[in-house]
Amino acid sequence: PGQITPGSIISDACVTYSNLEELNTRVKPTIDDLIRNTDFFSHYRLPLYSKTCPFWNDDNGICGNYACAVSTIDDEKDIPLAWRADELSKLQGPKAEHPGKKAQKERPQRPLQGSLGEDVGESCVVEYDDECDERDYCVPEDESAGAKGVYVSLVQNPERFTGYGGESAKMVWDAIYRENCFNKASFPESAGLGMSSSNSMGPAAQDFRAVLQNVGRQQALTQTESSLAPMTTVEDECLEKRVFFRVVSGMHASISTHICWDYLNQTSGEWQHNLQCYEDRIHTHPERISNLYFNYALITRAISKIGPYLEDYTFCTGDPSQDNATKAKVAAVVQAALKQPEIFDESLMFKNGEGPSLKQEFKDNFRNISRIMDCVSCDKCRLWGKLQVNGYGSALKVLFEFDNQSGEIPVLSRTELVALFNLYGRLSSSVNAITKFREMLEAKTAAE
Ligand code: FAD
Repeated sequence: PGQITPGSIISDACVTYSNLEELNTRVKPTIDDLIRNTDFFSHYRLPLYSKTCPFWNDDNGICGNYACAVSTIDDEKDIPLAWRADELSKLQGPKAEHPGKKAQKERPQRPLQGSLGEDVGESCVVEYDDECDERDYCVPEDESAGAKGVYVSLVQNPERFTGYGGESAKMVWDAIYRENCFNKASFPESAGLGMSSSNSMGPAAQDFRAVLQNVGRQQALTQTESSLAPMTTVEDECLEKRVFFRVVSGMHASISTHICWDYLNQTSGEWQHNLQCYEDRIHTHPERISNLYFNYALITRAISKIGPYLEDYTFCTGDPSQDNATKAKVAAVVQAALKQPEIFDESLMFKNGEGPSLKQEFKDNFRNISRIMDCVSCDKCRLWGKLQVNGYGSALKVLFEFDNQSGEIPVLSRTELVALFNLYGRLSSSVNAITKFREMLEAKTAAE
């Protein structure tokens, strides 16, 4: 195995695109099985309609396309047992009750060798506060029985092309990239999110684009053989800021990949793979591919790290055989993810230079991205946008708030767990789609 240097948190000698694609051939069947075939992981509850965009008025951005609509589960009897409100309240007890922020801080540290919650999984915890725990990277999606959340089947509402775009989507992406602006005071034009009048890319975002472009050139990517580690030669930007940008850009690249992979041909009315879309949005931007694979590595590491703590987790099915089946499927994903050790070394972050002082800002910026999701005016895109941001927030919590020394485990709610594993499923699909698109492109070039 190659060395992990401070500038490269992925070991460049060991992790290449082809390594990750090979890993993904083992991961994909297991993660697909988990997120498609278990009630717990195939459903989600979130405040999809009850929050308005806190940053600008987007009345004109409503997406009226049929493909933007989400089909929600409106009848309690159609909600799987694992997600029913009565099941949640039944499980509310001294152990499962949300400890509240004050109590959480006072709580003694849990032993390293334990489950997330003894007997009753933390997933059963009813969360009735909508504020952040200090360790959260996301604004929590309230899953309490009385909250204005909706239940959705993720399988019934796949992430794919919806036709959402134009100024509204551009404003959202623009706002998201502005969150790359650390030390906001030094960028008065883009401080905070009071930037609704401008639709153009902010200066901070442009800086990061420039950083990324440099990276792209230095990498001289040949997709399959390139390592994911580079960025060591980029000047002036510390590791933490680069990681932040890569996460955001990788998430964007993954969404674009799904749009191209599951594309509606508006002339024929057929869903198909759109190679031209892939070429335009992904293939000709190698840095986007690099960031997407980087995210795959990051989430693989988070899954491997949380995995052992899920062995005794109760998945709230109210049915022991379903619970065991879910556990076995989770274990299969974790086993597959563990096949690539030393994939990402999070211990190098927030350590040197300005790193420690950046942690709070990193968190705050990520929380802002989570709030920006309420500005996505296509319901289906908002559903998957919120879920994926929650998934990244959960992964960052696992990676950076999980103290290996003390053994303190961060509390992960059910929505966080479901988001994390579904995010892994999305990234796994993206890596698979990129592999296939590349083959299609090679075949096309050979035929010309
Ligand atoms: P966009 O993807 O809108 O990109 C805007 C600009 O950002 C580009 O011009 C480029 O300069 C830059 N950019 C693009 N990709 C990257 C990258 N990876 N890294 C860095 N910079 C980049 N549409 C759907 O059809 N289905 C969905 O499920 C869906 N989900 C969405 C979720 C969210 C949160 C958002 C904000 C939008 C979503 N959209 C979805 C819309 C979609 O992402 C695009 O905005 C839309 O298809 C228009 O694409 P575009 O080619 O104009 O560029």
